[in-house]
Amino acid sequence: TVDISPSARFCIKECEIITALYLGIEKLKAAEDALAPPVEDITPRLAALSPDHPDNICLSSFDPAYYASLSNEDKAGLERCMRSGIENPDSSMGCYACQPEDYDRFKPFFSKALAKYHGVPEDAKHVNDWSLEGVEGLPADGGLDIAKLGLPELSMRVRVGRNLKAFPLPGAMTKQQRCDMENFMLGAFAKLIAMPEYGGKYCSFTPGHPNYVDAAEYQKLVDAHIAFKDMSADKYLLSAGIAQDWPHGRGVYVSEDRGFIIWVGEEDHLRIMCMEKGTVLNKVFDRLKAALDVVNGIEGLEFAISPDYGVVTSCPTNLGTGMRASLHIQLPYLTADGTDAKAKAIATPLGLSVRGLGGEHTPIGADGTVDISPSARFCIKECEI
Ligand code: ADP
Ligand code: MG
Repeated sequence: TVDISPSARFCIKECEIITALYLGIEKLKAAEDALAPPVEDITPRLAALSPDHPDNICLSSFDPAYYASLSNEDKAGLERCMRSGIENPDSSMGCYACQPEDYDRFKPFFSKALAKYHGVPEDAKHVNDWSLEGVEGLPADGGLDIAKLGLPELSMRVRVGRNLKAFPLPGAMTKQQRCDMENFMLGAFAKLIAMPEYGGKYCSFTPGHPNYVDAAEYQKLVDAHIAFKDMSADKYLLSAGIAQDWPHGRGVYVSEDRGFIIWVGEEDHLRIMCMEKGTVLNKVFDRLKAALDVVNGIEGLEFAISPDYGVVTSCPTNLGTGMRASLHIQLPYLTADGTDAKAKAIATPLGLSVRGLGGEHTPIGADGTVDISPSARFCIKECEI
């Protein structure tokens, strides 16, 4: 780093000094850029890799002509978004946005990936809408009560991903930025904690943090489905730059009744969720909407929203709503063979995902409990999910 300034002081006007600084910097920047090492052209590497991995959406959405048209800076930016899918060719999505504006900046790439994964046209525009009024399939009384299906109280959870406009997305954050983001959120959590309907506390996983919870306490939060799993061994998230610096800048806010939770520093800056054991799905959905309105109203918190794509999330699979609505249901007969194969055979064609008891990539419960949720997030409204 150097200090650059126009040397003239006499017989030059103040306005000319400041302009001379700007014009001189422009020339220096051009000279610096010309000396920068050339970005590696990833085209040949991808051409060799792609034919063997047709299910890797990151690889199959790469267009050499579009890539060739980009500036060096944009080439490097796009490669950063694609790195996980390139380093892990067995990925299914394989790409992640690294900056809040990446979906719009690399639209020709991401619109292909989104179209492939979500089964929508490449020029699809997302609309957010939480109002249940007039939603197709909604029972006449507007209630989504699973007791009417003969089911007991089950654990229900609705979460949305949100990212702050003011920080790079987790894939491009430095350790310092992760910690700054966590500390920035403390102000918002203090406001929630002061509200009688939320209260609760913030638990930080960052060593040395004033709200630090130790390993045993962290594990209790994971077992209670409140905290997220250790991400540090996930090769896909490591290649994406998302899992780095674990557990720094990570933590969870938990309301007094443990039904409203905000994750800090997982795949998105924030995962905001409501969870409760019950039969009426509207309750968790409505509570989350009300809580989100409170969070949205906290001064200084501005979320990344794309004009065409809706809520911005790291992973294109979550873009749009960022919403996953799930319940834990025991299916002892469908899982009698110890696997979720039969449940999946029925759920998948219905647009429902089946996950394990501890979340994605975990085994089903010993009693046949599985996690069922609609898979769609993009070009679907919250009320439809
Ligand atoms: P997501 O990606 O939606 O945040 P994961 O599959 O990573 O979800 O799971 C995160 C945590 O949330 C896990 O502990 C999982 O068991 C828990 N979870 C998900 N759905 C429910 C539910 N309906 N009830 C209780 N816990 C849930
Ligand atoms: Mg997850």
